[in-house]
Amino acid sequence: MSEQHTADLTGPPPGGSKGRVHLVHLYPREMSIYGDLGNTRCLAARLRWHGYEPVVHDHHPGAPWPERADLLVGGGGQDSGQIRVQDDLAAHADRLRQLVADGVPMLMICGMYQLFGQAFTTVEGTRLPGLGILDVTARGNAKRMIGPVVLETELGDVVGYENHSGSTELGPGQQPFGRVRHGSGNNGNDGTEGARTGNVIGSYLHGPLLPANPALADFLVGAAARRATGDFVPGDVDDTLAQEAHRRQVRRLLATG
Ligand code: GLN
Repeated sequence: MSEQHTADLTGPPPGGSKGRVHLVHLYPREMSIYGDLGNTRCLAARLRWHGYEPVVHDHHPGAPWPERADLLVGGGGQDSGQIRVQDDLAAHADRLRQLVADGVPMLMICGMYQLFGQAFTTVEGTRLPGLGILDVTARGNAKRMIGPVVLETELGDVVGYENHSGSTELGPGQQPFGRVRHGSGNNGNDGTEGARTGNVIGSYLHGPLLPANPALADFLVGAAARRATGDFVPGDVDDTLAQEAHRRQVRRLLATG
């Protein structure tokens, strides 16, 4: 069944809540490698720092859909993990497409990015159909794309770490998430990384991505708070250390080419 996190992830912020925001983490057991759980923790923490009350739902295959969804996240996984979640994803396809149409912000990393695309064909030739929410198609290769990445995006420079065999092509008219400044990105050839349609972002970047990129995290937090409460009134958040780490990583990677 669907679980609600307690402890540090869920609960009102100190000093009164501006409203509840429901965050759904898709398949945290099967699809959450390379620290992707950190994205959920970061969003919950930032919601609280901004004065909102996060309610975090872990959605597992076969569980009933959570009562409400203002923000969705999904992580990376091995091909075998993708196979395990595929049927449940198909069962909720219409609901997910409706949430996309309603403007719900979503961040889908690596394996879940591929499953939000048209299809992913594994290196052994197994074809996993995707939701087609993002017009991308991925195919596994013997050679993996691994290493640190810097992107130029509409939300500023984004840093992260990629590790995927899937080489991904954007369909005609599909906007990438960013342009590669360092690393491989979707396929190592066309300079694109990830895909973005409105408030839905797919990306290969782990890290976890969001603690290293506060502006991206707050894009998602802001959109979710507006959906949940009609407004986003940011709190006073001290990102000095995160921004310094971000700046140094960009400088270091661009200096090494
Ligand atoms: N199985 C996919 C690939 O290797 C996803 C990998 C991941 O999520 N890190 O392309």
